[in-house]
Amino acid sequence: MKQTLFIILLSIILVSWKADLKGPWIRTENGNIILYTRPLHFTKTTSPDSITIQQIIQEQNHAIEYINYRLKTHFDAKVEIFLFNYDEAKEKIGTNGGGFASLRKSKKQIYFTFSSEPIFNPSKHVFEYVGSHEMVHIITTSQLGRFKTSFFGEGYSNAIDGNYGSKMLENVLSRYNIDSSLANIILNGKLLSPSELLYNNTLQPRLYYPQVGCLLNWLFDTYGAEKINKLYGLKRRKIENASFEVTGVRFDDMEKQYLNYRLKIE
Ligand SMILES: [Zn+2]
Repeated sequence: MKQTLFIILLSIILVSWKADLKGPWIRTENGNIILYTRPLHFTKTTSPDSITIQQIIQEQNHAIEYINYRLKTHFDAKVEIFLFNYDEAKEKIGTNGGGFASLRKSKKQIYFTFSSEPIFNPSKHVFEYVGSHEMVHIITTSQLGRFKTSFFGEGYSNAIDGNYGSKMLENVLSRYNIDSSLANIILNGKLLSPSELLYNNTLQPRLYYPQVGCLLNWLFDTYGAEKINKLYGLKRRKIENASFEVTGVRFDDMEKQYLNYRLKIE
């Protein structure tokens, strides 16, 4: 039944949470990743073995490459990832369904739950232990500054990760692609405009995260990541004017274009 607990995998930022990093840890470094895992038999649930450790490190080095490619960034620093065993994670990092990234530029750390059964990512056709959501937070914070809105902060992470939440698909726990979520949302008449995604603070995560991710992917495709990156660290009230300066398109015109595109209106 453990798997079902991951069905709602919230990659949440618990800003108020401070991870309890007390050891013992096994430290393994390769490329940009320094991975801290628990020794075997440290708790009742599984600690990663040496093969799994290498897989996770490889996954996260690939994540950095992919994020740099998508965002046209040049991140090349070391990132420390602390993987807590499932049964201790809730107490030490406040969740056992994912984790969070430090949002301090000087502190490139991810705190995450180790699940012995990785989750299938259908868009990339791979099984993932950590995924790329938190790494996007690390890279954007380092390269573009600290975000002031979840429109950009979570928008970037959901766009690049491409998934929000998980569900059982043919007996395999799988990530849930944001484009499929959006297609359902549109069918149910719940498509939100860019203004609503920018200004409404009370949207349900299930509606908000996939939609803001899909909007950001559309903005990257339409205007190029380099331009959108210039808006990343702005306060909410500055975004509309600045986006006109950066893209040459008024925010409300962009909004109409986006809604027409999604609703397939010529
Ligand atoms: Zn996030």
